Amino acid sequence: MEVLLAEEFGFCFGVERAVEMVEEVVEEGARPIRSLGPLIHNAQEMERLGARGVSTIDSPEEAGADTIAVIRAHGVTPQVQRELEQRAAKVIDATCPFVTRVQHLAERAARQGRDVVVAGNPDHPEMIGVVGYAPDNTYVVRDAAEVAALPPLRAPLVVSQTTIKLQTFLEVAEAVREKADTEPQVVNTICSATRDRQDAARALAGQVDAFYVIGGRHSSNSVKLLAVCQEQCARSFLIETPAEINFNDLKGVQKVGVTAGASTPNWLIDQVVERLHKLGQSA
Ligand code: SF4
Repeated sequence: MEVLLAEEFGFCFGVERAVEMVEEVVEEGARPIRSLGPLIHNAQEMERLGARGVSTIDSPEEAGADTIAVIRAHGVTPQVQRELEQRAAKVIDATCPFVTRVQHLAERAARQGRDVVVAGNPDHPEMIGVVGYAPDNTYVVRDAAEVAALPPLRAPLVVSQTTIKLQTFLEVAEAVREKADTEPQVVNTICSATRDRQDAARALAGQVDAFYVIGGRHSSNSVKLLAVCQEQCARSFLIETPAEINFNDLKGVQKVGVTAGASTPNWLIDQVVERLHKLGQSA
């Protein structure tokens, strides 16, 4: 049985960078290291980091004077960052640079007295952080329909949550264009990581007899990857660990595809590939 990896899979740039930043502090021996919210949406990687002294806190108040506090890739509001800096011994800011860009664009537009419309999910931590950079000027809308309910917009800037669909962003930008009396500044701030993984999985799914997506069952990008694979390959499975591979699912399979969500670490992917190779010898 041949095991084929999708061209793009696993950790995105921002998550990989955040984990590397935390690993560096772990190596320096400083403790306790506490991330504000889970550093990564992967139970196995959180467990591994937990064994190395990295834990999670839910609010800045939980950071003690000896804490090395970590801001994860989604970013936080400037207020939360300041609070962490006041309370903790040190703050590691692992905000993904793509998210920082959205924060800075919103902040600058607000300083210029302009309104900001962000296409995204207002409850998502990334959006909560962005709004904190321009709280009086920013409106987060889930879709174009929500633009109608906004008050009159002053020289608007339109940006996007990094992980939303391009179509949603374009529709929101068009709705703002129709509503505003001046031409809006439209900056596409979507990160291509999610789309690249989906495109690569789609390209491979048509060529294999079975497909394994490695990722958390609660990770939305992994669940979406599974849906993409299932469109072309009925025998597609979402697994969190190699132990979940069912030998019976591989009967008669000659080619098996593998991909992984943006929060799935390489060591877990390696374990799955190794197990597939072993099972493939007996399938
Ligand atoms: S998905 Fe994109 S924006 Fe989000 S953390 Fe990864 S690289 Fe950064």
